[in-house]
Amino acid sequence: MSAFTLGGAEVAPGGRSLVSLPVTRTLRGDLSIPVHVLNGLAPGPTLAVLCSVHGDENGSLVALKKLVDVLDRDRMSGTLLLLPVANPLAFADLRRETGEQRENTDLHRCFPGNPRGSITEMIADVIAREVIAKCDALIDIHAGGNGGRIQQRADLNEDATGEVAARSRAMCTAFGTGFVHVNFLPPGTAAGHANARGIAACAVEVGGTYLPTALADYYRDLTVQGIEAVMTLLGMLDGHPPEPGPQHVFGRKARKEANPTRAGYLLSRADAPEDLGRRVTKGELLGTVIDAFSLEPVEELRAPCDGVLFFSRMSGIVDAGAKGFAIADGALLEPTS
Ligand SMILES: [Zn+2]
Repeated sequence: MSAFTLGGAEVAPGGRSLVSLPVTRTLRGDLSIPVHVLNGLAPGPTLAVLCSVHGDENGSLVALKKLVDVLDRDRMSGTLLLLPVANPLAFADLRRETGEQRENTDLHRCFPGNPRGSITEMIADVIAREVIAKCDALIDIHAGGNGGRIQQRADLNEDATGEVAARSRAMCTAFGTGFVHVNFLPPGTAAGHANARGIAACAVEVGGTYLPTALADYYRDLTVQGIEAVMTLLGMLDGHPPEPGPQHVFGRKARKEANPTRAGYLLSRADAPEDLGRRVTKGELLGTVIDAFSLEPVEELRAPCDGVLFFSRMSGIVDAGAKGFAIADGALLEPTS
């Protein structure tokens, strides 16, 4: 195993280093992307894990901390690149996209980036060149954000084909969320960009932001287990990947949502981890929106079909048009794999 080079830094076999990849100087100061490099003793693949591509989706940050704490690099093959904050500007604002003076502000649409584009495109350019171009596999971790959603699924790029699609699907299944959503991941997303370069990728959605501790711990552990399972699948850790259990597999046509059409305070009836993966029946009440001024109930959010609930929402303020609940239509689910 040789040293791994990133941003001019050399990380020895068995070593660990925090590398800052410089992007540019902004009005808010120098901007750089932090990357934890964990190098195994034995040669093997390079796996990159992105977090906080959307700045308000950062529950997985504690999963990266736990992974760094528990991972035995002496028993690891290959190299792990962990990016806890892929978009530091959006992260600082606790917003989904970058607050800047021009368009193209969603890092989830800006790959492969542009060194002379928006700040967000500059960030994408650095991550694409320095991280994705050097990796054999990519995990892009998203979550419920400021809006209070909770998530649990692995997204597979519906445009991926051939061997890349097969390897990406195996990663999605191994991650073990219980759901593989064959979804829209255009080349502007990190996973879509990776796939277009022949790199296997899964984009997972796990947990949420500002969750009660027990819930945050549950999603932290699910994320750590998922990353370790993918590392085992790739041969970076010894043994066979743990049995992920049955996975609901579904495409976009099977995705049916119950979203608020007017603002208010949502009283959720599906805010526990066990609600995700639960069978619901058409018409089942998932939440009620209370008008914030009149204090009267103004909208009921009900399951639009029989199926399996795969994202949900905590009680709290919702805006008109926000995302509420999503069901994988039971009639369109592929057989569990
Ligand atoms: Zn996201």
